[in-house]
Amino acid sequence: MTIALLEQVDLQPLNTLALPARARYFTRIETVEQLVEALAWAERKQLPRLILGGGSNIVLRGDFPGLVLQIALMGRQSNGEQVTVGAGENWHELVQWTLAQGLYGLENLTLIPGTAGAAPIQNIGAYGVELAERLVSVRGWSLMDGAERELSAADCGFGYRDSIFKRKLRDRFVITSITLQLGRQFQPVLHYPALRDALVANSVPDALAVEAAVRGIRQSRLPDPVALPNAGSFFKNPVVSRNQFERLQARYPDLPQFPAPDGIKLPAAWLVDRSGWKGRRLGPVGVHAQQAIVLIHYLDGAVAGQGDGEALLQLAAAIQADVRQRFDVALELEPTVHGAA
Ligand code: FAD
Ligand code: NAP
Repeated sequence: MTIALLEQVDLQPLNTLALPARARYFTRIETVEQLVEALAWAERKQLPRLILGGGSNIVLRGDFPGLVLQIALMGRQSNGEQVTVGAGENWHELVQWTLAQGLYGLENLTLIPGTAGAAPIQNIGAYGVELAERLVSVRGWSLMDGAERELSAADCGFGYRDSIFKRKLRDRFVITSITLQLGRQFQPVLHYPALRDALVANSVPDALAVEAAVRGIRQSRLPDPVALPNAGSFFKNPVVSRNQFERLQARYPDLPQFPAPDGIKLPAAWLVDRSGWKGRRLGPVGVHAQQAIVLIHYLDGAVAGQGDGEALLQLAAAIQADVRQRFDVALELEPTVHGAA
């Protein structure tokens, strides 16, 4: 065996919500051969598998009864304007590296936590740019047919914070590397008001200025998971039909709206805030005081150490129920939920 198997591994330091959970078995994957061997071992033992990147978009509901595979497949190569990176590479460091190479296109996606291999799972996006616009293909191991496969961006079924890896291929495809198409000509994407405002003094911003502006806004607005454990946005922004939007707008004239390919996108933060949840705390879990879609697992105060995935999911369910009752809008969870109850 070339894989090192550990037992009863503490996952709390490996998820940004700092939820307490243990893995029955755990292994770190540094080569595709180790991946294949670890998957085969779990198959023989009939154990469930959890593919783990940086743990910044998962909710661990409880202990994981199978094998956790921590993806540490490294490597970055550029070939003209294309770059191919191992799934275990840190996303933010990749953004910095591309800029240092004079390759542009990822500036708006700076400072997103996690790994390159997880980026396609929810088609990461920020400030008007989505991974789907830059992705050429992913390579990975298909558990459906036990073989290495390459999927084109079109095969990935990308949608808003969504992909085939969250649906048909959930837990059935392990991404080992991704290939991106970047450019040597910088083409700024500046239609988000916060970004435009941050660059107002800069009439022709270059890529480094845009990256610095996004980084600055994010640092000023978003809670640092080290201080306040969180998984970023806990709810996706819902997309509703124009009819439903018009009905809602008649009752709530200040309801913000953004056009989306298949309807009207509503900011989940506005819906949660108007349902009275912003800043509310239920013991060890709560809603951030400034960011209404960021749920926090508090590690301080009298209830420190009492929070878990169940408490967090109960809070999320209460928010979803209130938003549905008030606005007749279904809020979907953004992170994926893993582990036994
Ligand atoms: P993990 O949390 O480890 O895994 C997420 C899911 O992907 C799991 O289901 C896991 O099984 C699966 N997975 C992971 N790696 C692989 C692989 N190699 N192959 C197959 N499946 C895999 N997201 C955005 O889109 N935009 C943002 O601006 C943004 N900002 C954030 C800010 C903060 C403070 C935080 C905490 C999160 C933010 N996120 C954002 C969410 C998160 O960072 C991204 O979704 C990120 O891509 C998750 O990467 P990860 O490696 O941590 O994935
Ligand atoms: P913001 O800039 O205050 O905007 C609030 C919401 O309005 C966002 O959800 C954004 O949608 C939407 N929006 C604003 N301007 C828009 C435009 N011109 N066109 C379409 N939609 C627009 O948001 P924020 O909370 O500070 O976050 C900034 C960016 O970082 C957003 O893109 C957000 O998605 C991303 N982010 C994501 C996470 C995560 O975990 N997923 C965490 C932190 C930040 P979108 O969310 O669709 O962009």
